[in-house]
Amino acid sequence: VCVAASCQSSGSLAVMEALEDACGDGKGTCRVKGVGCMGLCSAGPLVSIADKDCSLDESVLYRDVTPADAPEIMGSVCGSPVERLRCPTDQPFFARQHKIVLENSGFIDPDSFKGYVAVGGYAGMVRALSEMTPADVLREVTTSGLRGRGGGGYPTGLKWSTVAKMPAGQKYVICNADEGDPGAFMDRAVLESDPHRVLEGMAIAAYAVGANKGYIYVRAEYPLAVERLQTAIRKAKRAGFLGSKVADTQFSFEVEIRLGAGAFVCGEETALMASIEGLRGQPRPRPPYPAESGLWGCPTLINNVETFANIAPIVREGGDWFASIGTERSKGTKVFALAGKIRNTGLIEVPMGTSLRDIIEIIGGGIPDGKAFKAVQTGGPSGGCIPEAHLDIPVDYDSLKTLGTMMGSGGMIVMDETSSMVDVARYFMEFCMTESCGKCIPCRTGTWQMHGLLDAIAKAQGTHADLALLEELCEVVQATSLCGLGQTAPNPVLSTLRYFRDEYEEKLQRAE
Ligand code: SF4
Repeated sequence: VCVAASCQSSGSLAVMEALEDACGDGKGTCRVKGVGCMGLCSAGPLVSIADKDCSLDESVLYRDVTPADAPEIMGSVCGSPVERLRCPTDQPFFARQHKIVLENSGFIDPDSFKGYVAVGGYAGMVRALSEMTPADVLREVTTSGLRGRGGGGYPTGLKWSTVAKMPAGQKYVICNADEGDPGAFMDRAVLESDPHRVLEGMAIAAYAVGANKGYIYVRAEYPLAVERLQTAIRKAKRAGFLGSKVADTQFSFEVEIRLGAGAFVCGEETALMASIEGLRGQPRPRPPYPAESGLWGCPTLINNVETFANIAPIVREGGDWFASIGTERSKGTKVFALAGKIRNTGLIEVPMGTSLRDIIEIIGGGIPDGKAFKAVQTGGPSGGCIPEAHLDIPVDYDSLKTLGTMMGSGGMIVMDETSSMVDVARYFMEFCMTESCGKCIPCRTGTWQMHGLLDAIAKAQGTHADLALLEELCEVVQATSLCGLGQTAPNPVLSTLRYFRDEYEEKLQRAE
């Protein structure tokens, strides 16, 4: 039974209880297990009937299950499936995915240390500690071509090497789990479904760069993820995979959780570090970069949840294996959260280079209610809106930039013909205005001004002079803001102006 937050919100805990009750005499041969996210959140609660050793793909999957369905489902375990509840696992939503980060999601019990080890968990870390030097690990990660999944796409091997080259002494590893983009829930799902995978990646990173202390900075609004992380840290420590003298070696690695209080800007790495230090979460100019002078002035490695979740398979299978997946400059897979006007909302993982059309029309099942597609927003408030004409573009770091948007951390919000693109731009600007930390004037005042202009235009009260001023402000705020929040805040405006200018014009003409 999926017990990640999405399915819990549609009642999966009650379903699980009912299935346990219905198990009755079958308890000797049949076990009800809570697992992480199975991906198809729109069909929850999801229940998978699987033979002990089979994968999710080979199981019988049931959708929209209610507690009342439990006796019928239990009765069918050794017989014919309950067809009315069946959710085909050979449908494109499942069949077209390639799972590396999510390979255990929806399959293992996230609270079970043994369950993680049984599917090869901690094998990468054991290999790193027993067969590889830190330099060997750095080489594999560099060979893999992995780029940071938090949004920027910086080469992970290069970042790790910079921290490793700093003089020996106190160094830190930080996992950025401060996921805050509207519509994004990739990190939450990974932490709720497979927390040990993230810990294993962090520990391997610490070994490679010479750190002995780690922090996971996670939003307090993710209580289930926090709870599962706490359990995972406790169990990994008890089993000797965290703490001092890990796996009977000289390597030590302690991990602590730090809760973010909901400020979007704390996802920016210098603001995040300030918050961990107990200061107000505000960015500072870079350089110095965290790799050289980070937490409390020490060399610090910061990667996000998905980046760390890729590490164990890379060490286990080798960098060349990972580099064989994806495109020339964007290797591996990417996890996306599909949201908005799309039939299959949920969590997916596809090879880099998959086209947006495949993601939206085939894996996502297209637009519901017979409506036409209008745009897809990628990259959250820092990204942009892509129209139908560009849906065949491959999803990778570089291609998305040419369209005036960005990969971001993986949120994808789909809009149909009923969405007003001026309203969309105003919504994201309001988000940036509210989340601006106020440290620098272009962002603090610029987002407020741009929101005012957008509001007037959206209400058909703006003029062409307002639009000209809006475009000028976009340039200024982009060029002069201190951190990524301000520098990218104009992106949704610029991309909607680039592809949907007629909608702005229509509003202006109504006003004039
Ligand atoms: Fe703060 Fe915005 Fe300046 Fe970033 S750009 S430091 S969020 S005011």
